[in-house]
Amino acid sequence: MEKEYSGDKFDVIVVGAGVMGSSAAYQLSKRGQATLLLEQFDFLHHRGSSHGESRTIRATYPEDYYYNMVMKSAKLWEEAQSEIGYRVYFNAQHFDMGPAQDLSLRAVIASCENHSIPHQVLDRRQVADKFSGLIDIPENWLGLSTELGGVINPTKAVSMFQSLARKNGAVLRDNVEVEKIVKDEERGGIWVVTANGGPFWGRKCVLTAGAWTTKLVKTVTGLELPIQPLETTVCYWRIKEGHEGRFAIGGDFPTFASYSEPYIYGTPSLEYPGLIKIAVHGGYACDPDKRPWGPGVSLDSLKEWIEGRFMGLVDSNGPVATQLCMYSMSPDEDFVIDFVGGEFGEDVVIGGGFSGHGFKMAPVVGRILADLVMFGKGEGVELKHFRLGRFKENPKGNVKVFEVQVRFSPHSQ
Ligand SMILES: Cc1cc2nc3c(=O)[nH]c(=O)nc-3n(C[C@H](O)[C@H](O)[C@H](O)COP(=O)(O)OP(=O)(O)OC[C@H]3O[C@@H](n4cnc5c(N)ncnc54)[C@H](O)[C@@H]3O)c2cc1C
Repeated sequence: MEKEYSGDKFDVIVVGAGVMGSSAAYQLSKRGQATLLLEQFDFLHHRGSSHGESRTIRATYPEDYYYNMVMKSAKLWEEAQSEIGYRVYFNAQHFDMGPAQDLSLRAVIASCENHSIPHQVLDRRQVADKFSGLIDIPENWLGLSTELGGVINPTKAVSMFQSLARKNGAVLRDNVEVEKIVKDEERGGIWVVTANGGPFWGRKCVLTAGAWTTKLVKTVTGLELPIQPLETTVCYWRIKEGHEGRFAIGGDFPTFASYSEPYIYGTPSLEYPGLIKIAVHGGYACDPDKRPWGPGVSLDSLKEWIEGRFMGLVDSNGPVATQLCMYSMSPDEDFVIDFVGGEFGEDVVIGGGFSGHGFKMAPVVGRILADLVMFGKGEGVELKHFRLGRFKENPKGNVKVFEVQVRFSPHSQ
């Protein structure tokens, strides 16, 4: 039975219905919170970061603290799937590769050892054996094979969280742009003022605005966050005739990441049979409201990489399909999960800066955001890496200068 919450008063108002806001709304409504989820565009639109057909799952990170979040999320993905009754998460092996001396790759291997993640470090010959001759790495490279990889269907996953939230009694409204958030001085809580509807009163508020985070937080609090939107391009390449099945999910072929320059990632063939997703982690700095919609990342190094890695079995002349998407990059590529502070104190929580690698962890991020607004602290996850204060202490941090095209390496997908 759907619960109805009357009028315009809620326990929690979530702004932004990408994967993070939808996951938070699901978690909040599941715990009995009267929840309102607001989205400026149509639900499941293609103008943010959470649309499309595939996102990589992996547990291998150079930073130790993401492992725990990936593992907790794996359980929560299972839980949500069993509640909705369909799958959005498809398992595969995961394979990292790169020059043997690459510091990030070495940190990933060390993290596997620290966490006792079952893994194999492979040389060129062992890589060829393991993947039936499909993957080739240079002599001076290493491969790292782990079991926890796979692919999530993003649009279907966002839809899943929204359906579950609705089933739990949450109210969902799209085409409602939040213009400002005002403190309710009389009774406490906040007013969410929108361009078309409301205003809505909430005890608490969660901001999950993706590439619009810097704009929205500046409007709401005056605070200038260093979260930079980037436009990035996903590329699909044709597998040569007769070899399609060898690259398909469900067999030996893994999700993969290459710690080379540029950082390259990809998934087994799933969403478009006969095509494989292989892309560069990077993009062009942009204003999310004035997108360039192209021209996309330069493909020269990607073509060369494909030719060298897949035994000539993937046509490297050019992608046969591309899709555009947005990253919201923090300077250190770590997430931002914290109270906004200032006059809002602990009433407004922000979840942003997911820097092109957040999707797999959306279930645990949603849970932490719910914990923060409900109890003032997140359970079971160390949040110190995600605090806003790190930008104040060291405002430039290790900010990479955003030039025309920006490529990153340590985190990736
Ligand atoms: C090409 C690409 C590949 C990726 N690959 C991977 C991967 O392999 N593995 C992985 O884990 N992650 C990956 N990611 C990252 C992951 O997809 C993102 O971290 C995640 O989708 C971010 O979700 P979000 O909810 O923060 O942002 P969004 O999905 O952009 O959601 C924010 C929402 O807020 C809404 N909004 C903004 N302002 C307002 C307002 N004022 N009022 C109302 N609504 C508002 C927006 O319209 C938007 O719908 C990838 C991202 C891209 C783009």
